[in-house]
Amino acid sequence: MNISNLPTAKKLILKKRPGKDFDEENFEVIEDLAKAPEKDELLIKVDTLAIDAWIRTTLHEGSYHDSAQEGNVISALGIGEVLISKSKKFQEGDFVSGPLGAQTHSTMHAAAFNKIHNPQLDPEVNIGLIGLTSGLTAYFGLIDVGKVKEGETVVVSGAAGGVGIIVCQLAKVLGAKVIAIAGGPEKCSYLLNDLEMDHVIDYKNSNVENELESIAKDKIDVFFDNVGGDILDAVLDNLNTGARVAICGAISQYSDMKNVIGPKKYLKLAENYASMEGFTVMHFSEKFEEATQKLLSLYEEGKIVVPTHYENGIESFPRALKMLFTGGHTGKLMVKI
Ligand code: NAP
Repeated sequence: MNISNLPTAKKLILKKRPGKDFDEENFEVIEDLAKAPEKDELLIKVDTLAIDAWIRTTLHEGSYHDSAQEGNVISALGIGEVLISKSKKFQEGDFVSGPLGAQTHSTMHAAAFNKIHNPQLDPEVNIGLIGLTSGLTAYFGLIDVGKVKEGETVVVSGAAGGVGIIVCQLAKVLGAKVIAIAGGPEKCSYLLNDLEMDHVIDYKNSNVENELESIAKDKIDVFFDNVGGDILDAVLDNLNTGARVAICGAISQYSDMKNVIGPKKYLKLAENYASMEGFTVMHFSEKFEEATQKLLSLYEEGKIVVPTHYENGIESFPRALKMLFTGGHTGKLMVKI
């Protein structure tokens, strides 16, 4: 391709900043000629976008991940193919991953992208397994923050989602006993019967506090928390001595970031000589390569599977984002462009 026949790009922009709730009305798809790349830039055809919880937080003002501005393209990570390269680092036809944005074509500085080395554009592997916001987050949260050891009891909230489903499997590979918390019988059955977790708790249809008390009273060594709120409190109530609580996220709180409800049971940390530590995957950037290789080996050995859920077309992006909060997917949620 050359700059005389640039494609038309579809872009998903923020039309109106939402309050606590959002729907498709807050967004708009516009069409525009793709921007010609300048020196050191790439024109990339977007293939697949990861639907990540942090995108929701950018819809608030003052977001940690840079707030979306009305009229601007919604942020998103993904993978795509280089159509035109004005950078020495990439060639046309290369496959790359990076912050492509919610659009069909993206023109950006090459420094923001990594080349995909495993042979072709496979979203299951490149986004679901070794993606920053899925497998790598799971890996560092469980191993570096949770410091899981063989024989320990690990609880995972949001266990059937993109991060949680990898955490559950990694914990089993490392010899831990896993209690997976997810919403609804279908997800719980998948975690229990297909992925062979030791226990599941359907938080939508049972009392998490009571369930934890009967399964693991005062025995939880590691809690990988994706959800926050009441589930965090229920787990804090049942910690073992020396337990580690890894705060990966708190999806139950993202609709109203100005009024986040913190844990009421935090004194249980003191009573149990336990710790609670937050992290983002970017705190571990120096170890990305090592973790990537380990995750790929486990996948190739068949020890980790990567369930995925696809929505199709840029128009489906707002609906897919909403799904993170209503729980209509199992595994890594993505939009195929
Ligand atoms: P995901 O788990 O694929 O989707 C979110 C899941 O959360 C939904 O499927 C839903 O599952 C559950 N959920 C939504 N609202 C809930 C509520 N009020 N109470 C309980 N469960 C609820 O999303 P993800 O992208 O993998 O992200 C999971 C978490 O990891 C998020 O908190 C995210 O912010 C965090 N994260 C952190 C980092 C980091 O660097 N620290 C990186 C990536 C992601 P059910 O059907 O089971 O309700």
